[in-house]
Amino acid sequence: MSVIDSALVQIRQLQPYSPGKPVEELERELGISNATKLASNENPLGFSPRVAEVLARASEHVELYPDANAYYLKQRLAQQLDVEQNQITIGNGSNDVLDLVARSFLDGSTAAVYSQYAFMVYAMVTQACSATARVAAAAGPDAGQPYGHSLDAMRALISDNTAVIFIANPNNPTGTWLESNELKAFIEQVPEHIVIVIDEAYFEYVEFAQYPNSLQWLDQHPNLVVTRTFSKIYGIAGLRIGYCVSSPELCDLFNRVRQPFNGNTLALAAAQVALDDEDFVEHSRRCNRQGLEYMRAWFDKRGIAYIPSAGNFLTVRFGESSARIYQGLLERGIIVRPVANYDMADFLRISVGTKPQLERMFAVLEEIL
Ligand SMILES: *Cc1c(COP(=O)(O)O)cnc(C)c1O
Repeated sequence: MSVIDSALVQIRQLQPYSPGKPVEELERELGISNATKLASNENPLGFSPRVAEVLARASEHVELYPDANAYYLKQRLAQQLDVEQNQITIGNGSNDVLDLVARSFLDGSTAAVYSQYAFMVYAMVTQACSATARVAAAAGPDAGQPYGHSLDAMRALISDNTAVIFIANPNNPTGTWLESNELKAFIEQVPEHIVIVIDEAYFEYVEFAQYPNSLQWLDQHPNLVVTRTFSKIYGIAGLRIGYCVSSPELCDLFNRVRQPFNGNTLALAAAQVALDDEDFVEHSRRCNRQGLEYMRAWFDKRGIAYIPSAGNFLTVRFGESSARIYQGLLERGIIVRPVANYDMADFLRISVGTKPQLERMFAVLEEIL
């Protein structure tokens, strides 16, 4: 086999990421203009009005390359997170940062450990680097965190060639989360030469007292990488910007590996002011809390099971009807997310929408059921 042929075999084994169906696509297909998308955990309230203002100004100078060092955004983040600027790496979404970690530490001779049902991107970036994926069995359906990460199972898979461990807290698509004590104990047991990634994409939504801010462990653990994003509560998924915080040593490595302009002009400007609007973030958190309560009550009343969620989505067990329900909702202009690609064909993941969006979704769901 030629070099190209063998590369093609490997590349064809990669599963392309399957995103939520875009609103425009469904509207085009159905000939409608008011589809509701509850499929990609976007902020149903949109984004801060301050972002709109700054985008208008920032777009006046898109002929210029962006600041490759993202100076002002890092300065603002460092202040907000109480870390140093040389600990922050900006990415084109946090997926870009996950990819950076993989490209920095994984290759054909090393392995990554992550959990069954963990965020799909860990598998993608691992495979793209030709590294071995060691997938730990998740907690069972009756566990306190059903289908959640089992840190014991993950620890058992660590071996000599383990280079990276991916942990989502909370995880998508399960919504499960890890408590401070157990996560801290895990981090302390992992050998220091293994990079531990803690993906906190939903950090700003979580309201449980035992849920940790992993940044507190960075000083003690130079092998820790904490990733966050502006795609979820800050509501600018379309601009593509996320970041990670780590030791300056790891940050320096990522800075060498990354593409030079991976944070674009509009995204950098928007992210900076998004951080300033605490009222918007608080309002989003409250709306999400109320939406989740409403969703749980609706499903509880009908005896439909779901996985308790710390995020801005609920993954619901519809059993064998899942595909039919997905299709039925779609035909009536509502997009939710099948998770069969996660080996969870009995479930649909539904993002927390606004009250009107949820009422519409439940009215249609009632009909289908
Ligand atoms: C949505 C999500 C991300 C964020 O992706 P971006 O590239 O920042 O848009 C990262 N991790 C998890 C677990 C997610 O669900």
